[in-house]
Amino acid sequence: MMDVKGKKVLVVGLGKSGLAAALFLRRRGASVTVSDVRSAEALADQIPALLEEGIAVETGGHGLLTFRRQDLIVVSPGVPVDTPELAQVRTFGLPVLGELELAARFLKGKVLAITGSNGKTTTTTLVGEILKAAGLPTLVGGNIGVPVIALIEDSKPETWSVLEVSSFQLETTQEFHPAIAVILNITPDHLDRHGTFENYAKAKERIFARQGGEDFLVLNADDARAGEAAARSKAPVYWFSRKHEVEQGAFAAHGEIRFRCAAGEAAETILQLATIPLKGDHNVENVLGAVCAARLAGCDAEAIRRTVESFKAVEHRLEFVSTINDVEFYNDSKATNVDATEKAIAAFPGGIPLILGGKDKNSDY
Ligand code: ADP
Repeated sequence: MMDVKGKKVLVVGLGKSGLAAALFLRRRGASVTVSDVRSAEALADQIPALLEEGIAVETGGHGLLTFRRQDLIVVSPGVPVDTPELAQVRTFGLPVLGELELAARFLKGKVLAITGSNGKTTTTTLVGEILKAAGLPTLVGGNIGVPVIALIEDSKPETWSVLEVSSFQLETTQEFHPAIAVILNITPDHLDRHGTFENYAKAKERIFARQGGEDFLVLNADDARAGEAAARSKAPVYWFSRKHEVEQGAFAAHGEIRFRCAAGEAAETILQLATIPLKGDHNVENVLGAVCAARLAGCDAEAIRRTVESFKAVEHRLEFVSTINDVEFYNDSKATNVDATEKAIAAFPGGIPLILGGKDKNSDY
């Protein structure tokens, strides 16, 4: 664990996780400054509480001097890692960490981390519920709305922290080391920030960079780019597939989801495909990833089955809203890239009138 007492720390970006990081560091005795490009008016809600805690606040842009004066810099996931200020202080040898990396250094217990272009929140929520149902002490956080920093206080040596991690968070990891890492899929997204698909995929692969032989990496055998990651893993790879049996891991066959714990062993039945309450093949993939990860964490088949069968779609994820005049309405506003939208459309074999809008991220439409 690192000691931040008396250290000068700059937190860049005042989002949810930046705010949590600033308060956490201050309470551990660091001398904290936060810096955000937004104006003082735009941040009027957060600033008084920060000043009250003795945290200095810089708004409306970043002064290079502010950056140079620090012992440590913590960047929020929303801040690009290659801004001129960050590039310069790195050349001076100042450590630059993300909130995930900072939090991971203080978190007790084991980490089960889930990334992917799509399905992260659904799968993270499901895995969290399965672990709880199986009686494991479980915390859930990350990109899912609860900063990882906020889990530290409740974490104990026997805790499983189930974390949704994004490519932005993974970009700034160094020692982050999940006992179980899951890559659900890698399809084009956020190319406006990562530049190329390969850069983006490489950021995702950082999830297992620190793993070793005693850890597990779970990969989607049906996703070409996710599958390629296996060649670089030091941890044993467990697979999941909706299309064929796998050597070790979870797969769909004969109307069932099955899990094979090691090559050559017989597969055990976990649940019937027809009882999965979520719509679409993509959700079968999410369930398979969750089953595999939960089984590796030591959950029994019965807890997995019960939890999957009673699981409700997370809000805004192909969520059934209502039937009005015989028309069914679904809210899928969280489908924020081409692949997610394609999968959602495929979940309605009868065809649908689609209402579409949003921000272009340099994807191929
Ligand atoms: P994320 O947290 O990665 O954005 P969510 O679980 O919030 O993922 O799902 C977001 C949207 O992505 C869903 O509404 C659905 O349309 C789509 N989606 C979910 N799971 C998958 C998957 N495994 N593959 C492709 N698209 C998916």
